[in-house]
Amino acid sequence: MTTRRERSESVVVEGRVVADFGREFLVEFADRRQVACTRKGKRQDATCGDFVEVRLTGSGQGSIERVGTRRNLLFRSDQWRDKMLAANVDQVVILLAPKPPFSEAFLNLSLVACEAARLPVVIALNKSDLPEHPAARKQLDPYVEIGYEIITMSAKQDVGPLMPHLENKLTLLVGQSGMGKSKTVNALVLSDVARVGELTASRDSGTHTTTFSRFYRLDKDTAIIDTPGFQSFGLFHLTEDQIGEAMREFRPYLGACKFNDCSHLNEPGCAVIDAAKKGKITAPRLSFYQVLIEQHRDLHEQHPEWSR
Ligand code: GDP
Ligand code: ZN
Repeated sequence: MTTRRERSESVVVEGRVVADFGREFLVEFADRRQVACTRKGKRQDATCGDFVEVRLTGSGQGSIERVGTRRNLLFRSDQWRDKMLAANVDQVVILLAPKPPFSEAFLNLSLVACEAARLPVVIALNKSDLPEHPAARKQLDPYVEIGYEIITMSAKQDVGPLMPHLENKLTLLVGQSGMGKSKTVNALVLSDVARVGELTASRDSGTHTTTFSRFYRLDKDTAIIDTPGFQSFGLFHLTEDQIGEAMREFRPYLGACKFNDCSHLNEPGCAVIDAAKKGKITAPRLSFYQVLIEQHRDLHEQHPEWSR
């Protein structure tokens, strides 16, 4: 533990945010001690996975003084705008299931968010014990074509296939409700001791009805961040070019369009649209992208104050 005695009465300690409750955070120090922290006078600029400096304010409380430089940052969105979801993760696991059927739009939005944050992705198709599984797996074939790794698992029977992908990494786990995320987290987190996100030190734990994201340690070097209540990734902060680049199979064609600023919607001489006509890009992926760009434009028009 790195401690720095600044003034005689207060100590600054380096730690990591392991739970983000919106206004309050739980920070874990190197000795695994956890302290409930506030971030006074700042916009909510800390999130799960952040490395921070905490000033201990007595009685097991702290105040986040500084948020360290991030390797990456993912956003979630609500109906208003993007909010931070997690920082400094190594990869994202997108959990899908055949029943209820997964949403392909959710999958594509998640892939865009991860690509834009330059994060590796693993797609995990859960509930392999169900008879609907093979058809759902087939539906994912086009994603294997464009280079994504898909694993098959059953949170009910065996999370084993997921384990080697998690080893020695910090993984953000996302999924729509019903896909089996709670069951997966429970199967992975065998011991209650590993539930580092429990708010043990807070003076008012009763007020924490919404947890935004939470860190679970599986072993010394392996951890996951769960995202309860998470609906979708935020993409509002991205530019249209970044969205285009986040479409993995578009990349060979970007820059080959007739117009430099082509947005691949309906421009003549568009290399992306041509590639789709030749079957190099699937119609659903092109259409997903085009709808996303149109929604993105509408949102930016409605909220010019959000645009940078
Ligand atoms: P969450 O909303 O993503 O957290 O989903 P839950 O973990 O609560 O699971 C939703 C439902 O799917 C529950 O009824 C689980 O028992 C069920 N479920 C989760 N994983 C599996 C699985 O691998 N196989 C089957 N058959 N059901 C599962
Ligand atoms: Zn184009």
